[in-house]
Amino acid sequence: MAHTLKITDIEEVTHDVRKITFEKPEGFEFEPGQATEVAIDKEGWRDEKRPFTFTSLNDEDHLQFVIKVYPDHDGVTEQIGKLKVGDSLIIDEPWGTIQYKGEGVFLAGGAGVTPFIAILRDLYKKGKISGNKLIFSNKTEKDIILKDEFETMLGDQFVNVITDEKPKGDHIFLDGFIDKDFLASQIDDFDQPFYVCGPMPFNESVMGYLKELGADPEALVFEE
Ligand SMILES: Cc1cc2nc3c(=O)[nH]c(=O)nc-3n(C[C@H](O)[C@H](O)[C@H](O)COP(=O)(O)OP(=O)(O)OC[C@H]3O[C@@H](n4cnc5c(N)ncnc54)[C@H](O)[C@@H]3O)c2cc1C
Repeated sequence: MAHTLKITDIEEVTHDVRKITFEKPEGFEFEPGQATEVAIDKEGWRDEKRPFTFTSLNDEDHLQFVIKVYPDHDGVTEQIGKLKVGDSLIIDEPWGTIQYKGEGVFLAGGAGVTPFIAILRDLYKKGKISGNKLIFSNKTEKDIILKDEFETMLGDQFVNVITDEKPKGDHIFLDGFIDKDFLASQIDDFDQPFYVCGPMPFNESVMGYLKELGADPEALVFEE
């Protein structure tokens, strides 16, 4: 069943990422990591559906997405970047993407971190986040989504990788691309759950290295 829901707040997370908070329908339930099809409630856009992941938690009285805007796609996210409080989104029922299977290593490329946000927030809230690690790759430091929140939740188990500039921040460990040696230096145990989400090239290379190191990773391809 489709729900048309009013936006109650829009926050800038980075230069091209928005946190969008909106109404929650009565009785609407979902699991951390689940996504839904989303359209914009405007003439010409109601049939253009794209998947986004809930970043709020089930027990909160609102829904939230963290969305990266791609102005050069001339698509839905460009329009999302222009939305204002009071505009509406149309969402469908939730469906599964990546499921938490226990303490492990999360590897994200750019906006590919979004399916991990609710999972990590949920674990943090329950006091069960220890034993998990997030390795987060971005082009530049200003692209890092929710850096302060991940630092608070994960402490030194939050590792940043910066590919396109010389990193300056104190939480930046690698200047370059994730490779097998880097993974071997960061991870002791390859017999634990691995959760990978990012653009296709990120997933392919990271999954390849993880498998060579003996892991059995689960992946979600975020964009082709
Ligand atoms: C299960 C799932 C959950 C997701 N959750 C989130 C989320 O929570 N937050 C989030 O930000 N994103 C999320 N995404 C990604 C999000 O769905 C896409 O970013 C979105 O669909 C893009 O829509 P669009 O209309 O702006 O672009 P589209 O026009 O739909 O473009 C889609 C793809 O086409 C290609 N493309 C089109 N035009 C161009 C161009 N000009 N240059 C380069 N490439 C181009 C790209 O590969 C692009 O990813 C999720 C994806 C999946 C599969």
